[in-house]
Amino acid sequence: MRERHILGVSGGRDSAALAVHMRQTRPDLRLEYFFTDTGKELPEVYSFLDRLEGFLGQPIARLNPDRDFDFWMAEYGNFLPSPRTRWCTRQLKLRPLEHWLRADLEAGVTVHSYVAIRADEPSREGYTSTQSNMLVHLPLRDAGIDRKGVIDILRNADVGEPEYYDWRSRSGCTFCFFQQKIEWVRLAERHPDRFDEAVAYEKTAIDGGSPFTWSQGESLIALTKPDRVAQIKADYEKRLDRLRKRRPANPLSGRSPETIDDVYGIEEASAGCVICHK
Ligand code: SF4
Repeated sequence: MRERHILGVSGGRDSAALAVHMRQTRPDLRLEYFFTDTGKELPEVYSFLDRLEGFLGQPIARLNPDRDFDFWMAEYGNFLPSPRTRWCTRQLKLRPLEHWLRADLEAGVTVHSYVAIRADEPSREGYTSTQSNMLVHLPLRDAGIDRKGVIDILRNADVGEPEYYDWRSRSGCTFCFFQQKIEWVRLAERHPDRFDEAVAYEKTAIDGGSPFTWSQGESLIALTKPDRVAQIKADYEKRLDRLRKRRPANPLSGRSPETIDDVYGIEEASAGCVICHK
């Protein structure tokens, strides 16, 4: 019986490090790398995928949804996706993956899926399938590789990290609702066209009667008023300062640098997902 070995890269560092790790430790496997493209990705994601492909020496399959974000937003009554109603992940990430695998899974092919859960995040469940012939493997966890280990793997392979980590904490759509307010401010500064697109979606949602905004409790327009931007930046700096005083830098500790999640005290596992943010 035929088998397939698949590895989904999200544009984030963990899944990229897993791809590198597998290439280095299991060159015997015929791994198929894939990326589910929502059509709302940052340009930095594509340049990172290009670099990763260069290291892997093979293409990363781009799985495109049959219907785009605009179609699904209209389908869901012009409501923005939110942590509680994540139609975006279901329709733009999982559905294309299911299409890609369906015929083989139904034919009884065993599909081995390699998922980037690290050793230092024990609470993550990984992508589980309802199909008994889809088997999930967690090689980073099995090899004891943590966040620092992931960064080292990417650095040593000369792949480096996606450039967006300079200003935001995780991969995913330009307007992902898991972003912190400081990340919205930075999106407006770095990619004003993408920010304007998010504003336009939010306006459509509010005009259509949706009570939800992208960022909890305030619209993007309110969030980017000069006074509010200054307040958000000052709050971020204050928190960062507090964190650094609590965790003074020690070059010998081998600890990886602070993330935005660290600054806001957010558990990584509760602020993102395996499919979009690894
Ligand atoms: S990255 Fe965010 S907005 Fe995009 S599909 Fe995932 S949860 Fe939805």
